Amino acid sequence: HVRYSTAGASVEKNVQPIMVDYSRGSIAVAHNGNLVNAQLLKAELEAYGSIFQTTMDTEIIIHLLAVARQTSLVDRIVEALKRIKGAYCLLFLTESRMIAVRDPNGFRPLCLGKLGNGWVVASESCALDLIEAEFVREIEPGEMIVCNSDGGIESLFPFKKVEPTPCIFEFVYFARPDSYIFGKNVYMTRKELGRQLAREYHVDADVVIAVPDSGVPAAMGYAEESGIPFELGLIRNHYVGRTFIEPAQAIRHFGVKIKLNPVRELLEGKRVVVIDDSIVRGTTSRKIVKMVRHAGAKEVHMRISSPPTSYPCYYGIDTPNRKELISSSHTIEEICRYITADSLGYLSEDGLLKSVGLGNTNFCKACFAGDYPVAFPKPVELPQMGLFEEEQSKYE
Ligand code: SF4
Repeated sequence: HVRYSTAGASVEKNVQPIMVDYSRGSIAVAHNGNLVNAQLLKAELEAYGSIFQTTMDTEIIIHLLAVARQTSLVDRIVEALKRIKGAYCLLFLTESRMIAVRDPNGFRPLCLGKLGNGWVVASESCALDLIEAEFVREIEPGEMIVCNSDGGIESLFPFKKVEPTPCIFEFVYFARPDSYIFGKNVYMTRKELGRQLAREYHVDADVVIAVPDSGVPAAMGYAEESGIPFELGLIRNHYVGRTFIEPAQAIRHFGVKIKLNPVRELLEGKRVVVIDDSIVRGTTSRKIVKMVRHAGAKEVHMRISSPPTSYPCYYGIDTPNRKELISSSHTIEEICRYITADSLGYLSEDGLLKSVGLGNTNFCKACFAGDYPVAFPKPVELPQMGLFEEEQSKYE
């Protein structure tokens, strides 16, 4: 299990699954998401003598499990999970059972697969493809699946029902394009975001390029809808991580400079539309615009396949604090000037919802609108991962 770290540092002791031996036997836990009441629970548990081995919010669940009063494992897990708040897809493994749980809001995706006589659980369906497991279905918000060693399976809904609020940003950036989540294929959805963006923000241009890799399907959709040819004008170095996801400041600092390179022959003398999925701090977009211009582009028009990201996410996507998000304190015109683009257009919130479809789903879109579906304790500005500091780019 590779956990995308949003709480606790990216250090070896925080590697998942967490495995413990306790009075009831051995258990391993893997977690995708982020708990919003982790600090309060940790302080409470420590006051009663718990000693934490890691800095992950997931370890809190183990401690809650150890102090639960119920007798059966399933009931103990339910008792523990009733105390946590936020986003969680969890997998518990004992010597005889595997138990998967998706939180009642269903922020993150979780799916069930079958491999021979065994059951497989993964956040995204692309993981099932890798091991040639058959996709069975998505696990529902608030559902607990208990897989027994005899191959039997049980579905329970032990939590109070709430209206699900799956994360719409999974479609914009986070999920892999070859995955099927919340009832839809991610690639096709991303392409539709690009088509809608072209309808909302057309510009006369010669070529459409993407900020790879996450911007590629939207750029293809934009090109199809606008009739402007799509080219791979920026080539990504696949041996470095995604800038946004890279938590170590030093590596992130280095990554921006080495991860992209323009194809001069495609850009020289051209009016270029650059498609990206989001603008976080603005520093990366600024470098990309300068890079494209430096490669000879006559005009650079930035188009973003989501609305401005003005609020931090507390449910498992590692966005920085509000003051670090450029659109929380700047108008679109100011951002356009800062990133030195000739024009800038963001997909509208209505356009995003329309492109994703699934009209009956009440998606979480708090990072765009600030309307958080699960309240979190004060202080509002919870600690986040290390932040990127602006550097002097070779394109300045
Ligand atoms: S705040 Fe944004 S990124 Fe976080 S769960 Fe909601 S939609 Fe997703």
